[in-house]
Amino acid sequence: MTESEKDSIQIALKAAISRLLPELRTLNEYIYAHPEGGNEERLAAAAHCTLLEAHGFSVERAYLGLETAFRAVFDTGRPGPALAFLAEYDALPGLGHGCAHNLLGTASSGAGLLTAALLAGLPDTAGSIVVIGTPAEETDGAKVLMAERGAFDAIDAALMAHPAEDYFRSGQSLAMDALAFRFYGKAAHAAACPEEGINALDACIQTFNAINALRQHCTPDVRIHGIISQGGLAANIIPDFAEARFYVRAARRKTLRELIPRVIRCAESGALAAGARLEVSNYEASYDELQTNQALQDLYLANMGRMGIVGIQEAKKGFGSLDAGNVSQKCPLIHPWFRICDQPLPAHTEAFRDASISETAYEGLQAVLGGLALTALDLLTDAEALRKVREEFEQQHSV
Ligand SMILES: [Zn+2]
Ligand SMILES: [Zn+2]
Repeated sequence: MTESEKDSIQIALKAAISRLLPELRTLNEYIYAHPEGGNEERLAAAAHCTLLEAHGFSVERAYLGLETAFRAVFDTGRPGPALAFLAEYDALPGLGHGCAHNLLGTASSGAGLLTAALLAGLPDTAGSIVVIGTPAEETDGAKVLMAERGAFDAIDAALMAHPAEDYFRSGQSLAMDALAFRFYGKAAHAAACPEEGINALDACIQTFNAINALRQHCTPDVRIHGIISQGGLAANIIPDFAEARFYVRAARRKTLRELIPRVIRCAESGALAAGARLEVSNYEASYDELQTNQALQDLYLANMGRMGIVGIQEAKKGFGSLDAGNVSQKCPLIHPWFRICDQPLPAHTEAFRDASISETAYEGLQAVLGGLALTALDLLTDAEALRKVREEFEQQHSV
């Protein structure tokens, strides 16, 4: 892009944001008012698709066989890079949009619409803009399955931004496996003939003790936390069945590859000691760590500066696992955070939910729309910028 093209883009950007904002407010507030749980987001997905179609995107509903996923493409008609914005729109049970995914999805579809609008002023640009609707972030993490099914293999870079109490850089999230241990014993009267029983709960408790001993030998990034989801039916019956569920997390998948067999051995030792039989399974999708692409982040930070947002805070520390992690293993990705409230509010609360339709949220939305769209334009118009982003990704994944 020449300097004069950049100037005219800045002017067009403001006008395009004001033009789009009423439709984006409607989308955001409609999804806020109709919260739907993971994989049930039929109204939300339909609302996104309708809006994108109305602006010239061609939309594939039920993408990759997932009923509430979608893929919307705006193609310049000239072969070039494919840049994706990832939209989430699932709500939390009983709380509605306590994680503000109504606004997250609105920012992603909005950034797609904005980039497409700006491309009108750059008639020679090649490539395509893709908005991918990714269901069930809070539960099954559809991005895991979508990544497995190749959704991001032909994407040159993926962008999204999550609502938060302030602006934060994109950071890391933890790799995670969800392990279920099911112990099978033998029931007996706990007072009359305990010697005839095999205590599945004992096996379960010994598993916790062994895992607690294992912690001493784990690196500080490791998190292992579990519950006893079933531990017997009555105090006078030796439990013939018990189940423990664990999340095992680490900064890298590589660490988990070594750690998971050791955690399983803890359960095997519990089962062996009690004489119970053990079944091991993964009861939820496995998440990979999120690796931020710094070259992509640098472009985004510079563009947020153009939107008047400077001094963006370092990445948030101390949170769990994101299904965007699996995307970041397939293509360069950033997952920064943008401000939707005037005072710090924790996510997954009613107050945070209500902040997602506040005027502060719409200020944040406008800034982040510009930051995301300008970053996409950089990658479409500056081959060197895209090369840097891709090169960093290839380096991260060659080891
Ligand atoms: Zn959440
Ligand atoms: Zn969230």
